[in-house]
Amino acid sequence: MRQQSPLDVIKPEARKLSAYTLEHVQADVKLDQNESPYELPEDLKRAAVERVLARPWARYPEFIPTSITKALARFTGWPVEGILVGNGSNELIQSTLTVTLGPSRTVAIPQPTFTLYKLMSSILQANIVTVPLRAKDLSYDVEALAAAAAGADITVMCLPNNPTGSVVDAAGLKKIVESARGIVIVDEAYHEFHGESAFGLLADHPNLIVLRTFSKAMSMAALRFGYLMASPDLTREIYKAKLPYNVNVFTQAVAEMVIERRPMMDEPIRRIVAERERMMRELKARPGVECFESRANFILFRTGRPAKEVFDAIRMRGVLTRDVSGYPMLDRCLRVSVGLPNENDRFLEALDAALSVVAASR
Ligand code: PMP
Repeated sequence: MRQQSPLDVIKPEARKLSAYTLEHVQADVKLDQNESPYELPEDLKRAAVERVLARPWARYPEFIPTSITKALARFTGWPVEGILVGNGSNELIQSTLTVTLGPSRTVAIPQPTFTLYKLMSSILQANIVTVPLRAKDLSYDVEALAAAAAGADITVMCLPNNPTGSVVDAAGLKKIVESARGIVIVDEAYHEFHGESAFGLLADHPNLIVLRTFSKAMSMAALRFGYLMASPDLTREIYKAKLPYNVNVFTQAVAEMVIERRPMMDEPIRRIVAERERMMRELKARPGVECFESRANFILFRTGRPAKEVFDAIRMRGVLTRDVSGYPMLDRCLRVSVGLPNENDRFLEALDAALSVVAASR
């Protein structure tokens, strides 16, 4: 019997893909991953360590982490039976798609958006329907999305969208959720910077799933924590694809403390939003720079120059942004996260210098 190459066993859909990864580049000013520039207070960090020191590390976390899910239920007002926690919201995207998608299933995904949706859907061998944003301003095309949702088992939307910052108003979102034949996932990783949420639709729309993360506005990217809200019936099914003990005790402790002290996050969020508005004004004032309207903690902009060269020239000046020019429709685009005011100034100076040295593309 001839042996196969082990790689022949990998699904062709997976072999075709490039992995979701990011080169680790050192930079003085890190504005490439939409993290918060504000660390959690030192006293909270120490208290979390103390809390975890008080419990055995040789023992598993609780099977169902009720303390954190109850805290989230109190904080959100959503029933605890409709909440799942994840090792980052990425894991909950994976669990949701795992219980729903397969070769005979269709998923509708706006384009461009967070790459993980399409990557996971491809590995699950689903039929993928992409719905382009409007070319003019990269806004959502509500009519097209509602039409695609009507024919899809799952529709995944990111609000505000990564990497464009686009949003849909309440009426548009309601239309999409109500037109959908199947489930609609609204990924609200950046909702705190927008101030609006799909949450209000949850109670009356059992086909809606809302995803949140503590990696952005909650300053916890290193600790990996996200949560999902949906009807208890749907939540019970998604739970089946979630790995056991997925949120470690340290992350649980910190997340609980952050929820207890949630009002302390209002000021950093307010500052980030104010800086976003200032950066958008600054970018719009620069000739040759097209800046897209963002409701998140990052801004997408396009220059008339090759993106890789602009990215490198900015990086040489100590500022790391994200070259997103390889995404559909984002030719010559970069994305910059909103940092501290002085970091944002460094970015603007670096951009000006980059634009003076990189020749316009013909
Ligand atoms: N959704 C979106 C839209 C994101 O941009 C990100 C992070 N880049 C995530 C989810 C994943 O977040 P987490 O750290 O919670 O896994």
